Amino acid sequence: MAQSGKGKLNYRCPSCFMRDLDIDMFYDKEKKEYYCLRCQYTGSEEDVLEKNEMIRFRYRKMMERITDFD
Ligand SMILES: [Zn+2]
Repeated sequence: MAQSGKGKLNYRCPSCFMRDLDIDMFYDKEKKEYYCLRCQYTGSEEDVLEKNEMIRFRYRKMMERITDFD
């Protein structure tokens, strides 16, 4: 199960994504945490997934509003 570098999935950084930056995080297998090279975010897989869900929900709402301009 040991992996180096990126984790099994490329999770985007929720902290950067909120600032319109789509940054892949790296996985620290010793700490069992994902971390972002761009900001100070670190979090467990669980935390990352939870925040990504929150952001996806928020962005979907925003996208709906944006499409209204067409
Ligand atoms: Zn980040």
